Amino acid sequence: MSDLIADLPKGPLTPFRETATFDWKALKVHLEGEESIKFKNEVYAVLSRDPIFARDFSRPSTDEYREINHKRWKAVLEHQFIDDFFAELERTQDLLEILETYDQGLSGRYALHANVFFSAILTIGTERHAEILEKTRNNEIVGCFCLTEVSHGSNTAEIGTLATFDKGEFVFTTPHDGAIKCWAGNLAQSATHAVVFARLIVGGKDHGPHAFALQVRDPNNYRSLPGITIGDMGTKPGVWDGVENGWMSFSNHRAPLWTLLNKGCDVTESGEYKSAYSSSRERQSVSLGSLSAGRIGANACRLAATIAIRYSCARHQFGEKPGSDNERAVITYPLQRHRLFPILAQAYVIRLYQSKLMNHFREYMMRMVGGEKSPELAELSKEVHGLSSCTKPLATWMGVAALGEARTCCGGHGFLQSSRLNNLRDDFDPSQTFEGENNVLLQQTSNWLVAKKAAGGDLKSPMGTTDFLVDGGALVDGPVVRRVLGAYTWLVHHLIAKTEMRHKELKAQGKSSFDVKNESQIYTAHTLSIAYGERVMLSWAQAFVDDAPIAFKSVLQRLVNIFALDRIEKHLSTLYIGGFCSGGSFGEWVRNTLIDEETLLAPDAISLVDVIAPPDFVLNSALGSSDGRAYEHLMAEFRRHTDKRTPFWGDLATFLHHKQQSKL
Ligand SMILES: Cc1cc2nc3c(=O)[nH]c(=O)nc-3n(C[C@H](O)[C@H](O)[C@H](O)COP(=O)(O)OP(=O)(O)OC[C@H]3O[C@@H](n4cnc5c(N)ncnc54)[C@H](O)[C@@H]3O)c2cc1C
Repeated sequence: MSDLIADLPKGPLTPFRETATFDWKALKVHLEGEESIKFKNEVYAVLSRDPIFARDFSRPSTDEYREINHKRWKAVLEHQFIDDFFAELERTQDLLEILETYDQGLSGRYALHANVFFSAILTIGTERHAEILEKTRNNEIVGCFCLTEVSHGSNTAEIGTLATFDKGEFVFTTPHDGAIKCWAGNLAQSATHAVVFARLIVGGKDHGPHAFALQVRDPNNYRSLPGITIGDMGTKPGVWDGVENGWMSFSNHRAPLWTLLNKGCDVTESGEYKSAYSSSRERQSVSLGSLSAGRIGANACRLAATIAIRYSCARHQFGEKPGSDNERAVITYPLQRHRLFPILAQAYVIRLYQSKLMNHFREYMMRMVGGEKSPELAELSKEVHGLSSCTKPLATWMGVAALGEARTCCGGHGFLQSSRLNNLRDDFDPSQTFEGENNVLLQQTSNWLVAKKAAGGDLKSPMGTTDFLVDGGALVDGPVVRRVLGAYTWLVHHLIAKTEMRHKELKAQGKSSFDVKNESQIYTAHTLSIAYGERVMLSWAQAFVDDAPIAFKSVLQRLVNIFALDRIEKHLSTLYIGGFCSGGSFGEWVRNTLIDEETLLAPDAISLVDVIAPPDFVLNSALGSSDGRAYEHLMAEFRRHTDKRTPFWGDLATFLHHKQQSKL
């Protein structure tokens, strides 16, 4: 096992490791699999030897960031870790996980080209786009994804860019500033190609937004093509400064017909529009379905838990008796554990959930790309969309909140650049907005759930995530997760009923269906999506624990229990108001059991962190290093800035001198 996973250095964390009730290396192998660990080891070894990936805690300028990001991206491609992004989906996910933990800006640059641009063309293009896919695979071009415009992000149906059929070509125009494409990562400086969404106009008729694979720059001289203007959006916080989010406008840019990504629709040479979709809404949902690929992935909790729990073991404050030898590690305080262990539990549960979702998603993509058209696939498509539309918000909200909490759990030193926590919080922050704004996305889930329940018939679904709706849910006894799942089942039923009731009330008041949706979000549809997403995450994580070998069962169960209790605690008011329970006993049970579980998890906490922690050079945190020698790393950084005479020392000395003179 030591060949596969290196031993960790001895030091201040050793006593905390010695209390573990399980073998951390064996759990790592069980969770990730030998193949995946070997591949990641290979990548880590290559990156740690390549000087372009060396870094310290200093903050580069925007231009330096962009250049280093470009060089690192090029190095990742040159190292040829992946031959085919699509055929090697698991390796691609592993590589993206490494890049995301190393630097979100780098993973953003890589994923926009290899994942977002490529999957959009693969899923909504046809054989006539094979060449562009091949060039993407071979990295002969750089791709980006241009959907958002200055005045429209979430409401993609109202984008304003036009692609008008004219004499066997499309003419792209930007009718006003609000229709300028923006936010597209890779666009401002590097992209040669873009998937561009524009309204298709044929014979004067507006057929709504369609996707096109356009060349936007000449790769030989990096000038934009005629009729295209490209610019940069300015500086951004954290590593996103290294990602060139760009804007683009069109002025009669002409492109050939083949650029239309034509799965299910096309325009003939003579200007006839054909579509296999019953509505532009259906076509739009197929076009944007490819974005679901990005709606999974959450390393934020993992990084937050690693840095803050390791530091909390190394950091000692207060003790019963005076004297610094008697001070306790801050991790021993129940309040610190109550702030950090739910984050550790989230890191595990999100991961377990993701790996199952990826299996379903892979199968779904294969069937889609294979051209299957079956009622079961249509149901699966709705379910993938409904589920990812709530678990992406949940995972990203948990992640950003975790990084904020982790930073304060590390006190003042947590605020330093060298802790990396504030930076990470900035880096993960936009994940709450891109690939679908979280609050807007949640509406997709509740719409789907309410419609599914209203349609009656079979409530079961291809992935089984709505099967529980068949049963009403009630207060039950038994193990923690069984009890909590009972509460969630009741909660989801209750919230569907509340949402439907609110719909009826609003309709009776003569409200439009638009207002009905908007006015039934707060405490109803919005909470419904959250409760359903959490329930699925919890039940999938529990299924993993049920199948786990005996050696890890109890420690994993404890983590899943903490996740269950921490999440359901946030719904206690709704459970009481709705009448699921009365008196204090259920609420008291949730809270007391959570505290008990956190106490029982303590001996295993640091080893659970070791299982999910990236190597130190990827983590790049003075506080979170695996040797636990936080003060030594901090002091090494402090000493790099010793006795540096400020460049304005002369001006300061003159100023002080004048002040002294004027007093005389
Ligand atoms: C770092 C970063 C990278 C990005 N990369 C890309 C890219 O590569 N390509 C690309 O095309 N785009 C990209 N985007 C854009 C991103 O996809 C959009 O910002 C996102 O879809 C949200 O749209 P918006 O900004 O228009 O927000 P808006 O929709 O304007 O949202 C503003 C606020 O209004 C609320 N709101 C909106 N509608 C409703 C409603 N019906 N009910 C209740 N509340 C509502 C939202 O919750 C939010 O609080 C990126 C964005 C960021 C920050």
